[in-house]
Amino acid sequence: MSGKNATETLGADAAGIARAARILQSGGLVAVPTETVYGLAARADDTAAVAKIYAAKGRPGFNPLIVHVDTLTQAEALAEFSDLARQIARAAWPGPLTLVLPRRADAPLADAVSAGLPTIALRMPAHPVMRTLIRESGCVLAAPSANLSNAISPTTAAHVAASLGGRIDAILDGGACENGLESTILAVRHDGTLDILRPGPFDLARLRGFGSAADRPAANIEAPGQLRSHYSPGKPVRLNADKPHQDEFMIGFGAVEGHCTLSASGDVAEAGGNLYAALHEAAASQLPRIAVAPIPAEGIGTAINDRLRRAAA
Ligand code: AMP
Ligand code: MG
Repeated sequence: MSGKNATETLGADAAGIARAARILQSGGLVAVPTETVYGLAARADDTAAVAKIYAAKGRPGFNPLIVHVDTLTQAEALAEFSDLARQIARAAWPGPLTLVLPRRADAPLADAVSAGLPTIALRMPAHPVMRTLIRESGCVLAAPSANLSNAISPTTAAHVAASLGGRIDAILDGGACENGLESTILAVRHDGTLDILRPGPFDLARLRGFGSAADRPAANIEAPGQLRSHYSPGKPVRLNADKPHQDEFMIGFGAVEGHCTLSASGDVAEAGGNLYAALHEAAASQLPRIAVAPIPAEGIGTAINDRLRRAAA
C-alpha cells in the first residue's frame, strides 16, 4: 500500500476473511492471526507483494520469510520432500514447526521469499482463521512476524496496529495468539541430519525416532531469528533478576513478583503466551530499564530464554 492510507481492521468472521482474501489476491498486505504470533502476509508468488513485506517491516533483504500452506500437496510443490521430511510434516503439521527444505527449482515463489538461499521455510499453521484465509485466497502466504524489523513480535491485533498501522492494508483480528512465541525452525538436511535453527513452542520430544535434532547454531545468516540481538524492547534488559532496581520495570514469574507477571503460578506455557505482551508493556512504561525474573529452561522455557537473551543483547 502507499503508506498514507488507513489500515483496515477486519473481524475474523466470514466477511472479514473474504475481504482479507481479496486484498491478498490483489497483492496487498494483511496482518493475520496464527497460533504462534501475528504474521504479515502477502501472496508468496508475487514479487511486488513480497517486496512490500520487506518495505513495511524495514526488514533486511537477506532475512528470508516463512511460507504458510494449507495442505501438504501445496508444500510439496514448493520444496523437495525426502521421505523423512514427509514423515515429520505428517507428524507435526498443522502446528508451530517450520521445516527448512531444499527449494524446488520450479517452485512458484518470488525469489525474495528465500532471500537467495537454495532452501525454503514452510509451515502449515494450526490457526483456523489463517487456514481458511489460505484456502479462500487460493494463495500460499509468505508471512514473517507482523512487527517492524528487530522489534518485539505481536501477539494481539493492537500490537500490530501500534507498529505497522498506516503501513499495511489490513489487520485481521483473531484475538490473542495461543502460543505467543515464533515457531520452532527445523532444517531437514539431504543426509537426514536435523538441525534446530530456532527453538520454539513445538515439543521436540514428538520427533523422537526421526533422528537426532542437534541444537547447533547455524554458521551463516541461515536463520536471522538467531541473530544475537533481536526482539528489542528499545531499553536495557536485565535477566534473572529477583527484585527490581528503582528505575526498572519488573516482569515477574512464579514467586518473583513484578509490575506484571508472565505467570503467577509459575507455568512456563502460560509465560510463553504472555512474554511479548509483557515486553510491549515494559517498553511503553515510563521506567527506563527492564528486569525479568528467572524462567526455568524446561519445555517452552528454552524458547522463552532464547528470546529473552536476544532482547537483552
Ligand atoms: P520471522 O517470521 O520474522 O520471525 O522470521 C522467520 C524466520 O525464518 C527467520 O529467522 C528466517 O531467517 C527463517 N527462515 C526463513 N527461511 C529460511 C531458510 N530458507 N533457511 C533458514 N531459515 C529461514
Ligand atoms: Mg520476527
